[in-house]
Amino acid sequence: MLKGKGVSRGIGLGNVVVLKKVERKIEKKTIENEQVEHELERLHKALNEVINETEIQLKNISGTESDIMQAYLMILQDPSLISETENAIKNDKYNAEYAVEVGFNSVVQIFQNMDDEYMASRAGDILDIKNRVLGKMLNEKTIDLSNLKPNTIIVATELTTSETAKLDLKNISGIITEIGGENSHTSIMARTHAIPAITGIENATSIFKNNDNVAIDGTLGEIYVNPTEEEKQKLLTLQKQLEEEKLELEKYKNEETKTIDGTKVKLYANIGILKDVEVAIKNTAEGIGLFRSEFLYMDSDTMPTEKSQFEVYKNVAEMMQDKEVIIRTLDIGGDKELKYLKLEKEANPFLGFRAIRLSLDNLPLFKTQLRAILRASAFGKIEIMFPMISSIDELRQAKKVLEECKKELDDENIEYDKNIKVGIMIEIPSAALIADKLAKECDFFSIGTNDLIQYTVAVERGNERISKLYTKFHPSVIKLIKMAIDGAHSANIICGMCGEAAGDKLYIPLLIGLGLDEFSMNSNSLLNARKRINNLDKAECVKLSEEILQMSSAEEVEERLKEFKEN
Ligand code: PEP
Ligand code: MG
Repeated sequence: MLKGKGVSRGIGLGNVVVLKKVERKIEKKTIENEQVEHELERLHKALNEVINETEIQLKNISGTESDIMQAYLMILQDPSLISETENAIKNDKYNAEYAVEVGFNSVVQIFQNMDDEYMASRAGDILDIKNRVLGKMLNEKTIDLSNLKPNTIIVATELTTSETAKLDLKNISGIITEIGGENSHTSIMARTHAIPAITGIENATSIFKNNDNVAIDGTLGEIYVNPTEEEKQKLLTLQKQLEEEKLELEKYKNEETKTIDGTKVKLYANIGILKDVEVAIKNTAEGIGLFRSEFLYMDSDTMPTEKSQFEVYKNVAEMMQDKEVIIRTLDIGGDKELKYLKLEKEANPFLGFRAIRLSLDNLPLFKTQLRAILRASAFGKIEIMFPMISSIDELRQAKKVLEECKKELDDENIEYDKNIKVGIMIEIPSAALIADKLAKECDFFSIGTNDLIQYTVAVERGNERISKLYTKFHPSVIKLIKMAIDGAHSANIICGMCGEAAGDKLYIPLLIGLGLDEFSMNSNSLLNARKRINNLDKAECVKLSEEILQMSSAEEVEERLKEFKEN
């Protein structure tokens, strides 16, 4: 048995598919005249293979995806693209791989420089196709992540967001990764989609082979390779129990979220990609409390355009049918990178050029996003949230840019919600400490405990070595949460929480006691949270929180919350 860190509960049995990263190197070679024909043949063979594959995919899909595939086919047969690439072989005497690089990249540049939003966004598609054509030429065995066999257990170093977005989730029984902590995006995605997941298995991509038969317990972090009949039975019994628990939760789908004594709170979902919205709706999310828009950026080879962002935001707003959708502006930096945005290496990235700091320093990028959000606000109940606000100046500057965008849209006669609400994340202690001041200048708060904890106790959120010190039970963290809630209420605005702590059953009574108005979490925790909240008495929770605010150690707080849970 192998043991790692369980990051998403549940039992999964199935066969392994290993995702190995291949480092691709495109060599630049000069070819002889007599090799020209051969290289041209290699080019057309690869192009035809991708065309055939795309045509097959096209038969099985519909809607937007089908439009994208149609566009791919047009690009693959585009005469100017093909002649650029052929000329690189015929005239410049480059080998076929290098010719694809040169030919496709020159067309990408033309598209990127176009004023038309739609055409500019096609640059990403051409890059995607280029990669597929090169993959064929280099005989790379790519796994079609969107078409997996039932009961697949994915083994990877870590899943990228674009891999995550493509995953054929219904056929995945488990995920095993080498790196990534509890709050890595792979872990969050696994929990959202109720896929058992284990991380921290060193060299997993070498240890496991395709088709290995594996059983995993995502709660305990245990992995059985070729499980015995007895081990299988034990896990299947556990799986049955979990399914029964899940079934029991179904009844909460029809209930309001309110404590026994009638205090109503909002129960919202966090999302990262469009696929997450369906899970949120299925689990009766009352709104979206955090749309991590950076996923859109991370899932693209080029900067997403206003139009492409607008389409996604509009889609989410319409799917949520007039329920609140809080879109957080780009939170990149820290541990999240964009390959097309070259940022300087920093000694302390989490204390560096991140989130709102980056947006305020790159106004074209920031304005493109704000305009897209504003335009989408005409189609639903969208709200804007700024991440990593550390001072009142940052909030004022961000609001000023938003006003400029509104003015631009007014001048262009483009519709948007004129009363769109603007909120901020409270995830830096300096913001919590002046919450009362910030509250006077925005419409809502959402506490980001994932970061608030790391900045309060000076413990990097993904650092395994010091992970014991990273705790939401630290009395200082709790004091800052209280300051944020009280600050919001002093200005009559709502205070929510979208950090992972909002979905923790142990922590919820404390948050109810402190007066939190909105709980936003991964969709898979929603019904459990509703069950927890609906069985609490607010007055008792207030007493509990008063008691906890007097405590001096995290251990004491955790003990008290465990005791409260059992009573
Ligand atoms: C947080 O910091 O709690 C949060 C919700 O934001 P993220 O995890 O995306 O940094
Ligand atoms: Mg954060």
